[in-house]
Amino acid sequence: MSTPTVTEVADGVHFVQGKAVNWTLITDGDAFTLVDGGYPGDHDAVLSSIAQVGRTLDQLAAVLVTHAHVDHIGSLPTLLDGRDVPVLTSATEARHARREFLEQATPLQVAAASWRPRVLRWSLHVVSAGGTTKAGVPQATAFAETPLDVPGRPVPIVTPGHTSGHTCYHLPDAGVLITGDALVTGHATVARTGPQLLAGMFHHDAAENRRSLLQLGSLSGDVLLPGHGEAWHGSYADAVEQALA
Ligand SMILES: [Zn+2]
Repeated sequence: MSTPTVTEVADGVHFVQGKAVNWTLITDGDAFTLVDGGYPGDHDAVLSSIAQVGRTLDQLAAVLVTHAHVDHIGSLPTLLDGRDVPVLTSATEARHARREFLEQATPLQVAAASWRPRVLRWSLHVVSAGGTTKAGVPQATAFAETPLDVPGRPVPIVTPGHTSGHTCYHLPDAGVLITGDALVTGHATVARTGPQLLAGMFHHDAAENRRSLLQLGSLSGDVLLPGHGEAWHGSYADAVEQALA
């Protein structure tokens, strides 16, 4: 296992960079919220990140999911095995997480669309990280209230497009926005960094994703945590403008 990089980007908000995907830990007292969980192969890295912020799995109060692609929920079945921890996301994404439907390009489909070396390397990583599993998270349910009554009191912002129920999470007090794959700052398949959109083949509905981003520009805060790439510091309006350019 490679040890993930954990950065406290705001009080109690810890951004974790795994090998090919990010997740976030939000601590409040002893308890914490996990937002997304990496690939199946990131299970040990998730545990390592929890230890790095001085917590144990027993203190996990809730899991939030931006979207139910395998690189964001893959570790959860093993992580949560035998535990009564709520897994929350939008109503549509909860159905996706339960695998009532599946909106995900396979590594083969992606590789077939582009044989560039970076894409090939990424495809091999997906396979080695357990990314071809179709396993879901049966206990995923829809959140009801807003803000969510979990550590960090995140405000969900439903941003369909990347998947039909994709959801960003805003932490108004911390000034942090977790954007999942609606807006990223890099990806293993591209060299470019900075606010950007994933390639069209990764989105269920790329046009809808672009429209959804317009909700983000007016939010308060100056730290943006994407599903892929580095943390970004600046106004969300600028990030959205750069991503849509
Ligand atoms: Zn992703």
